[in-house]
Amino acid sequence: MKTPFVTKSQLEKIIETYPTPFHIYDEKGIRERARALNAAFAWNKGFKEYFAVKATPNPVLLDILKQENCGTDCSSLTELIMSEKVGFKGDDIMFSSNATPAEDFKKAAELGAIINLDDFTHIDFLEKTIGYIPETICCRFNPGGDFRISTQIMGSPSEAKYGMTEEQIIEAYKILKAKGAKRFGIHAFLSSNNTNNEYYPTLAGVLFKLAVEIQKKAGVDISFINLSGGVGVPYLPDAEPADIAVIGEGVRKVYEEILVPAGLGNVSLFTELGRYMLAPNGMLITKAIHEKHIYKEYIGCDACAANLMRPAMYGSYHHITVMGKENAPCDHKYDVTGGLCENNDKFAIDRMLPKIDIGDILAIHDAGAHGFAMGYNYNGKLRSAELLYKEDGSVELIRRAETPDDYFATLGVTKFFK
Ligand SMILES: *Cc1c(COP(=O)(O)O)cnc(C)c1O
Repeated sequence: MKTPFVTKSQLEKIIETYPTPFHIYDEKGIRERARALNAAFAWNKGFKEYFAVKATPNPVLLDILKQENCGTDCSSLTELIMSEKVGFKGDDIMFSSNATPAEDFKKAAELGAIINLDDFTHIDFLEKTIGYIPETICCRFNPGGDFRISTQIMGSPSEAKYGMTEEQIIEAYKILKAKGAKRFGIHAFLSSNNTNNEYYPTLAGVLFKLAVEIQKKAGVDISFINLSGGVGVPYLPDAEPADIAVIGEGVRKVYEEILVPAGLGNVSLFTELGRYMLAPNGMLITKAIHEKHIYKEYIGCDACAANLMRPAMYGSYHHITVMGKENAPCDHKYDVTGGLCENNDKFAIDRMLPKIDIGDILAIHDAGAHGFAMGYNYNGKLRSAELLYKEDGSVELIRRAETPDDYFATLGVTKFFK
């Protein structure tokens, strides 16, 4: 069972001020996740979560995470600027980008962010761009082949555009050391939305062994290891969630097996979780505005894939609660659609739900990460508002909905919109 973090009557009140569709986030839930993560890794002295800004780029949410001792993980100029505005600086920012434009590296260096190099050639590019190699530097690793948890294939790094090969990364640390770098990190992201409690420990094993190799072959002591993102959430109502405490303990075991005996017992661990932190703490709220009976039964909503792209893009399941009908029998089969002129604009296909009436409020769950963030303006659809459901029960508008003027704002270069 997935239970919305606001009730139907609360939503009805909210809608009086902020019309649907909108995204709403749960402050309490966000803080609880951050605390549980920090507790799970409290055994590691330098542990830090760098929230992946791309998942939910809203400064008010970033500020909540900042209060919970998180940093930010950025991969673009605008994400860096947003972090700066919220007050993140220096080591509080990880810059994990790829195919990086020069301006982005310049901004990262200006903020003193930890720069994570995606490629061997970026050593040269960075040095030419900013004029030096920073003292603290990180390299992204790609082991190639398949990434397995015991025998199960969990990802295909050989098909991923990210990171350096083992040979390249060892050479990279030698060169970076010769160029004056003093504090080194390793980063890798090998599997996405993984709810298996063995994901982080398995990845940690790969990276911890690599750290020992690097120590031997490059004469460099690794200071931090960034396990990046990828811990998943159960989108299906009956799926098993990842247990962050178990994950933290699993990583500790591998740390004690591999790093401690190699004299690397001071290595700090970092994470860059996006989905795990925010997905369950956000919902897309929409209203049923039409019903249609042809070869199938359709419910047309006032939200569309421009507000939540995952079902259209990946065929992802997002659970839907018809507010106020939580206990009604799910005896109607619907396609729940948005209004894009795109047949993949469906939040649910052949979903068994209670009978939906026009005006019903639908809560689309687990939209707090990679939800609003992946929004777009296709068909002239406008981005929705974002609201924060605060711990004291009040609601704050943390991003207003777009208006047609916003959509037309960049057209001032034409004679039609001067
Ligand atoms: C997307 C991304 C993340 C966050 O991934 P989640 O699946 O949201 O945890 C972290 N680090 C990097 C470099 C990413 O690209």
